[in-house]
Amino acid sequence: MLPPVASRFVAGESAATVLEHARKMNESDIGVICNRLGEHYHERAPADADAAAYERLVADIGGSDLRACISVKPSQLGLFVGEDVFRENLARVVAAAADHSVFVWIDMEDHTTTDATLDAFEHHARERGGGVGVCLQANLRRTAEDLERLADCPGKVRLVKGAYDPPKDVAFREKSRVNEAYRTDVEFMFREFDDGIAIGSHDPAMLTLAADLHSKHGTPYEVQMLMGVREDAQRELAGACDVWQYAPYGEKWPAYFWRRVRERKENALFALRAIASG
Ligand code: FAD
Repeated sequence: MLPPVASRFVAGESAATVLEHARKMNESDIGVICNRLGEHYHERAPADADAAAYERLVADIGGSDLRACISVKPSQLGLFVGEDVFRENLARVVAAAADHSVFVWIDMEDHTTTDATLDAFEHHARERGGGVGVCLQANLRRTAEDLERLADCPGKVRLVKGAYDPPKDVAFREKSRVNEAYRTDVEFMFREFDDGIAIGSHDPAMLTLAADLHSKHGTPYEVQMLMGVREDAQRELAGACDVWQYAPYGEKWPAYFWRRVRERKENALFALRAIASG
């Protein structure tokens, strides 16, 4: 069972818990991106099982009045078993989601997966004329070119700074350089995209930049933040722009929870206090 300390960052273990969480967040005008925790599968069975779980989840979302969508990881759908397995499972999930009018985000994992992820995204986005989105990482040197490639592609792009640790021949390593790239990429998106811009960041400077660019160009955009991170800001922003919260769920919560705790001193203190107070 999910301990209370983890429930700040994880919606629960079952699909029912993430749907219940979505209902609560919708009351504050915040949409929910449901992510079933699971990644790096090297066998087909768990990848197929997660694809099937997503098929059931999109049917549940479609049958409800929730403002909710899903986000999948390529290695969760079998990319490390084989690109054909990933493509097959993604096609199942995207088809089921389209049947139920549910949006599908594709997370971006480490830099070795970028080509396969973008090719699969572009295939579905062009074939269906939208309904899918992909994440791009500003810390990768290639991202400016990838944005040019996707500028005329239907679907959405979520820009993040990047959660992985790629080598310096493919990535900017200094934080200031990543921030500079993020700014340049956001400016490009507001100039060249008609819509489909998602700002995946908690950084107040990037959120202000996006709001300024929206005033200047009029291009619609949405803000996406993680469950348990700057939730006060999420609620405040929800009155001013489209806000979505990325909410993970599932039995594989311990690894995700500890990643959140380790990444920031405040989160570690929060976890220690919660554990100490029982
Ligand atoms: P940072 O550069 O980490 O921090 C900048 C400033 O933001 C801080 O100084 C502080 O003011 C504020 N801030 C940041 N975190 C906190 C906090 N916990 N509490 C309070 N203030 C804070 N990465 C991928 O590689 N692939 C993905 O598919 C992916 N999907 C994502 C989806 C969403 C919705 C989000 C929000 C992030 C995703 N990420 C993904 C992670 C992303 O790459 C970054 O690692 C993560 O968002 C941290 O960068 P940041 O822009 O939020 O700000």
